[in-house]
Amino acid sequence: MKPFQRTNSVRVVYRKTPSGSSRALVRRRKSNKSTCAICKKPLRGSVGSKQRIYGGYICHRCLQHLIKSTMRGTS
Ligand SMILES: [Zn+2]
Repeated sequence: MKPFQRTNSVRVVYRKTPSGSSRALVRRRKSNKSTCAICKKPLRGSVGSKQRIYGGYICHRCLQHLIKSTMRGTS
């Protein structure tokens, strides 16, 4: 294992090689799917999209409720 690979940001798996010795292999960690900050449901569309306000942060349903309650002045 190389010095820059000795970190918690990578996953290390131990596999046996055909010669019989075991070796440490470095795998990438799976990234978590982004979820809504209010209802915790997984977000749709591309990850971290910034085309809409709060895009990549809260879902379209929660944003709709948020905008409506702000415009009505009740929140
Ligand atoms: Zn939501």
